[in-house]
Order: sequence, then C-alpha cells, then structure tokens
Amino acid sequence: MGFLEERDLTDGRRLKFEIFRFNPEDSESAPHLDVFEIDEQPYMSLYIALNVIRETLDPSLMFDFACRSAICGSCGMLVNGRPALGCKTLTSALPETIRLHPLPVFKLVGDLSVDTGVWFREMVENTEAWIHAQQAFDPDGQEERMPDEVAQKIYESDRCIECGCCIAACGLANIEDGFLGAAGLNRICRFALDPRDSRDDSEWFEVVATERGVFGCIGLMACDDVCPKELPLLEHYAWLRRRALRAS
Ligand code: SF4
Ligand code: SF4
Repeated sequence: MGFLEERDLTDGRRLKFEIFRFNPEDSESAPHLDVFEIDEQPYMSLYIALNVIRETLDPSLMFDFACRSAICGSCGMLVNGRPALGCKTLTSALPETIRLHPLPVFKLVGDLSVDTGVWFREMVENTEAWIHAQQAFDPDGQEERMPDEVAQKIYESDRCIECGCCIAACGLANIEDGFLGAAGLNRICRFALDPRDSRDDSEWFEVVATERGVFGCIGLMACDDVCPKELPLLEHYAWLRRRALRAS
C-alpha cells in the first residue's frame, strides 16, 4: 500500500464551496455567494483548497495566508458559520458543502480578506497595551530577570497570534464598538502580569473595569471555544476580574 493510500481519509469526495464575494472598492460589486467544485485530496486544508480554486477556477478570489502553520494569524474566516484558521482546518473534518465568509467585526478588504490590523491597533492604543516603565533605559544595565513562573504566564498570553477568531465569535464585539473582547483582555493581561510594568491596581482598574472590559463580557466563552491557540482565556479573565475587584 502506497504512502498516500495508507493515509487517504477523504474517500474521493467532490467538495462544493460556497464563498462570499464582494469587493467594497468596486461600485459594481454586490455581496453574493459564488459556488466552486473541486476534488478533495488527502490532508487537504482550506488553505490548499482555496489555492486550488484560485489557480484553476477563479484568479480574482481574495483571501489571506502567509505562514500556513497557524502562526501568522492571517487566515481567519467563518467556516460554516464558525471562526477558524483556514490553514489549520482540514476539509476531511467538514461536510461536502463548505460555506466560507469573511470574519465579521473587521474591515473587509474583499471576499474572504479582512484587515484585522486596524482593530488591533485601535485596541492597543486605547488600552496603552505596552510596557509602562518609570526607570530610564540604561544601555549598560544588566538584563532584568523575573521568576520562571511569571515568565511562563506571560508567555501563555504572548502566544496570541491576533487572528481575530475570538472577536468574530463574540456576540458583544459584534454589536459594541470598542469592546475589548478576548484578544484585548488577553493582551492587557500580558502587561498587567509583567513586573516591569509600573502601573498599579488602580491604574489597571481604569483600563479593564469598564463596560468595554471585564464587566461588559457576559462570560459565555465563545471566544474560548474558537481560539486556535487554545489560550487560557477563562483563566486570564478571572485573574483580571480579581485584580479589578482588589482595586475597587
Ligand atoms: S466570554 Fe463571551 S462576551 Fe466575553 S469576550 Fe468571550 S465571547 Fe465575548
Ligand atoms: S486570543 Fe486566540 S482567537 Fe483571539 S486573537 Fe488571540 S489567538 Fe486568535
């Protein structure tokens, strides 16, 4: 038995893709679904399928990919209504008809391509999600050290690839402009944990204890269900809420 035969999980299916099409830059364009059919291949991801469609059926199809390995966060999309990464989603895990839409909340570039950068930049600027240090930089100073367990917790938050899946899944982020959502709260958690950040509890209270922050979140954890990096979002919320209560 050959290498591919041994691992062929697909049973020769013909896949039908229903893909959202719209170019906001083109005044003639109107939102609609286009249908494409291709043969499923072993271990085919949506990344591969969309490239086959673009190379063989419609070169104008817009979608984003960069790394193919769930690191760059570019290929978030709604897959049969659920946010997911295209590169990490195998067609063998889906029914024969696959409906793809762009992630909601973010600015639409065209078809499946969205600009998550605008949303993330605004969130970072609104929450000042960077290290606030009091001491002046000393180029000859020693490297600052922190306990391993703190570094490990910061690393857990830093694993966020800013794909936007959690924001697209969040009912509140879909209707409330400026809601920080899981990605925003996770990023705040990353700096609130960092011993080099000089902000105290009351300053963090101003950032997170609002309707846009931990007290707006209704805690149904759709974000946690879809995060492709399986970040401990629930744990981070609980920690931020405790910290906010401590300062109240
Ligand atoms: S728990 Fe629900 S409301 Fe809160 S950020 Fe996650 S998806 Fe949004
Ligand atoms: S928290 Fe998870 S789902 Fe949200 S942006 Fe980061 S990696 Fe993506």
